[in-house]
Amino acid sequence: MAFEGLSEKLQNVFKGLKGKGSLTESDINTAMREVKLALLEADVNFKVVKDFVAAVKEKSLGEEVMASLTPAQQVIKIVNEELTELMGGTGSKLTYSPKGFTVYLMVGLQGTGKTTTCGKLAAYLKKNGKKPMLCACDIYRPAAIDQLEVVGNSVETPVFTMRDSKEPEKIAAEAVKEAQRRGFNVLIVDTAGRLQIDEALMDELATIKSAVKPHEILLVVDALTGQDAVNAAEGFNEKLGIDGIIMTKMDGDSRGGAALSAKKVTGKPIKFVGMGEKLDALEPFHPERMASRILGMGDMLTLIEKAQEDYDEQKAAELEKKLRKNKFTLEDFLEQMGQIKKMGGIAKILDMIPGVNSNAKNNINLAQSEKEFAQMEAIIQSMTKAEREDPNILNASRRRRIAAGCGQPVSKINQLVKRYNDAKKMMKSFSGKGGAGRMNRMFR
Ligand code: GDP
Repeated sequence: MAFEGLSEKLQNVFKGLKGKGSLTESDINTAMREVKLALLEADVNFKVVKDFVAAVKEKSLGEEVMASLTPAQQVIKIVNEELTELMGGTGSKLTYSPKGFTVYLMVGLQGTGKTTTCGKLAAYLKKNGKKPMLCACDIYRPAAIDQLEVVGNSVETPVFTMRDSKEPEKIAAEAVKEAQRRGFNVLIVDTAGRLQIDEALMDELATIKSAVKPHEILLVVDALTGQDAVNAAEGFNEKLGIDGIIMTKMDGDSRGGAALSAKKVTGKPIKFVGMGEKLDALEPFHPERMASRILGMGDMLTLIEKAQEDYDEQKAAELEKKLRKNKFTLEDFLEQMGQIKKMGGIAKILDMIPGVNSNAKNNINLAQSEKEFAQMEAIIQSMTKAEREDPNILNASRRRRIAAGCGQPVSKINQLVKRYNDAKKMMKSFSGKGGAGRMNRMFR
């Protein structure tokens, strides 16, 4: 998870502050020195760190903070606000052309995840009611066109190609016509990448830009490359002008320096972050939520949105009916576990819950619980339909057979049945009078 190291260090600094009743100037100086070190260790741009710490310090030393009853809380609040501002404040939403047809030009260096992100963006737009088409403009690597077609296929989005053409600006212009003719309202143009910024690439992108007049130019950068990503963003912005940044591979970046520096250095906001290789792993970037997450205040909004996205109205109604009739089966139990998985697994959910700090998470042993999940799934899959529907029939010989089938000891089967019974009891307390509303509110 991104920002892990930074998050832990900052939380420790604030724990120290909170332990004191009132704060002296020297307390704040010490804390700010630690904040500065933490940010530098997270690979945040040096100048950005200097300005950030200076701003936080100045505000923290103000009369109203020092004289307040909860000075430490006030300092944390200031850090939260400044972090939010640092990552782009509120202006980081993707925008659509008011004319009704939007072109996004996707640019970036090779290997940053540009092609994958084109597919992710198409999937995101479809989820949000748009009709996107993709366009392949890499005239140098036929394999890149193939890759975009594979990606497009996976997200059920057509890909416009002109394999014999060597003029990307013409391909893009034709794609615009074709998309409009076929009733699409967004065109995502994938372009060629290079290992580093060079004049020829910039000229080519500028030509495509003037041919299709994109509503937004989105630069894809790789979070794992740290300050190199920020430098690339600066270069692309100076030479081509970009509207926003999509930062990929945030799932593997424990430092977060690129994400924290990009906006301040380039003046352009991060609009999305890539959180995995799968095509649904693209999240809109919300600086205020990210700041809260870094400071261990959780991110309930994202959690609720995720639950809403994956919430299946009809399924919930069915489930409720079953609970009322006391017919909640192991099959349903399996499905519930599937829901949790769909939301990104326990680790991701815990990340978003306020108060669950990194120490607590370590104690829970996440890898272990994910493994147990998989084991439970395997056990249920080794049962017959009748057994899944009525676990009461699971006598000793059935349990032995299942254990042999899934390669786990009988004790695991017993444990699962106990968990199922516990879950059933807990869920039952939600059903009954007023339960429907209560249960719905849990998800909405
Ligand atoms: P391109 O050369 O810029 O078009 O890059 P690709 O789209 O081919 O991606 C390069 C590699 O990065 C692929 O293996 C992708 O699966 C991977 N990738 C892209 N985005 C992410 C992300 O957000 N997280 C992770 N973990 N991998 C990603």
